[in-house]
Amino acid sequence: MSTGIPFTDEAWGVTAGCSKAGRDCANCWAIRDARRMGKNPNPKIASVYGGLVERNGDGLNWTGEVRLAPERLDRPRRWKKPRRVFVDPMGDLFHPNVPDRFIREVFGVMHDADHHTYQILTKRPKRMFELLCAWGWWARGPYPHVHLGVSIGDHRTAVERLEFLANCPAAVRIISYEPAIGAVDWRRWTRDYHDAFHQVIFGGESASPRCKARPLHPVWALDALRACRCAGWGAWFKQWGEWAPRGPQYAVNGGDGRAGQVPPLQGASKKTIVLKIDGAIIEPLFERPPDPALKPWMMELVGKRAAGRSLAGRTYSEEPKARLSI
Ligand code: SF4
Repeated sequence: MSTGIPFTDEAWGVTAGCSKAGRDCANCWAIRDARRMGKNPNPKIASVYGGLVERNGDGLNWTGEVRLAPERLDRPRRWKKPRRVFVDPMGDLFHPNVPDRFIREVFGVMHDADHHTYQILTKRPKRMFELLCAWGWWARGPYPHVHLGVSIGDHRTAVERLEFLANCPAAVRIISYEPAIGAVDWRRWTRDYHDAFHQVIFGGESASPRCKARPLHPVWALDALRACRCAGWGAWFKQWGEWAPRGPQYAVNGGDGRAGQVPPLQGASKKTIVLKIDGAIIEPLFERPPDPALKPWMMELVGKRAAGRSLAGRTYSEEPKARLSI
């Protein structure tokens, strides 16, 4: 199955179903996709995804059941042309309901079909770390074609998850800061772990309906970019998400050491909010901007296509280990 994910060519779904691992999973797109595919007229597809999603007080959610798809394990061996393969897009390979032996089989296929590059993202890095260390999996060195990644959404999830990734035996380690739903203080990671990571993929949230998506504060995105520059990691800015930045609502330094003017609230509409650096949203707009220390930015709901992926005037699509300067 080809994928619309820009940094990958092929999706290799070996499990289906999951359960939310944190606030960053709130608008999990795989839940909607699993529900849709559970109603597919093709009984083969419907039998894989049917019944994995239920409706409760908070809307749609996973039931917690995880189904394995052993019949798909062999696919990478049959793909002749080298591809970038995203492993398990409709679940989390290290979910507690995926048996150890099955994860081992997945790694066995990746070992054999080594003409592809595999990208694995998890929100359960502790299990990934424990399994890979326990197996002594990489006795002759980690596979260079298997890139291990951990998803974070804010500083709290960074603290909870990144150390496991940093210590995980892997040739390439990727931080996926997407959807970014809060600030991350990168100083510890750039100072003590700059050699441990190789790329940060970051971006805002897309959701259905659009208005449910949480906006990405421009300062969070710029902080991630600066961290990449400081540590020498590749920077991949994936998207703004549904909300596009329309301008700061605080005095910006004009570059000559003097504070500039607070930009006027122009073009504000029903689809416009003011977002503070702590993620809080001010609604409706008011004339007097909030505390400048909270870096309020005006954001507009325009849809992810229109919001695009340009940051500070350019796009960032750097591969792991890229060592580029701004
Ligand atoms: S870990 Fe991934 S697949 Fe599972 S609920 Fe969270 S976002 Fe969805």
